[in-house]
Amino acid sequence: MGSGTSQGVPVIGCACKVCRSADARDKRLRTSIYVTNGDTAITVDIGPDFRQQMLVNGISDIDAVLLTHEHDDHVSGLDDIRPINFRLKKNIPLYGLPRVLDDLRARYRYVFDTTYDYSGKPRIDLVEINTAPLQIGSLKIQPIEVMHGNLDILGYRFGNFAYITDAKTIDEVWIERLQGLDVLILNALHRPRHYSHLNLEEAIEMIDRIKPQQTYLTHLSHHMGLAADVELELPADVALAYDGLQLEIGLGA
Ligand SMILES: [Zn+2]
Ligand SMILES: [Zn+2]
Ligand SMILES: [Zn+2]
Repeated sequence: MGSGTSQGVPVIGCACKVCRSADARDKRLRTSIYVTNGDTAITVDIGPDFRQQMLVNGISDIDAVLLTHEHDDHVSGLDDIRPINFRLKKNIPLYGLPRVLDDLRARYRYVFDTTYDYSGKPRIDLVEINTAPLQIGSLKIQPIEVMHGNLDILGYRFGNFAYITDAKTIDEVWIERLQGLDVLILNALHRPRHYSHLNLEEAIEMIDRIKPQQTYLTHLSHHMGLAADVELELPADVALAYDGLQLEIGLGA
């Protein structure tokens, strides 16, 4: 539902050729995916573009939200859970690491403080997870620990599909659990090195370790260049993700 880094593309006030591009692939909302299997639907992350992403994609129901980490570009659409609460008449569970959920409790006091009386607030159940496998409806999910600079965060494997964003490094033990993938979505910020994100070169090296059949790069900055140009220099089994990309994958659930 989104393939852009934290500021999105175009960036407010930027006149670079990517931000001025007419190519729809150069318009990137903040990073998120929507996964369905049978009658189970989840999103991974709920950033500031969540409302727009639901509208653009004609999606009205989700069963759960999986969080990768607590940075704003991954959580700040939380208030827009409300129309889903109203439609489905139930709380929506939000799954995340204990640290991530504590961070949300502190930042969204009006949502999670039960002494705070406000009837129109989002109805969210916080569900602590770690790296143990979990099941949501018909979806079997294996969390994958990746390092985002010094921060341990989660990626998620669903059958032979995995979604990893905001990674800089991944320990060998988790690389092993990413073997045998048909499709990998992996972050690549831009070309210069960054302390907490893979750049393009590092992402390609990471792909060589994971060896998926096909990889789509996400969490892209305007500094990466025009989609049409970057595609030409990527290996045959690597492509840039774009907003609205749909993939049909056996999730093995
Ligand atoms: Zn991010
Ligand atoms: Zn720009
Ligand atoms: Zn982040």
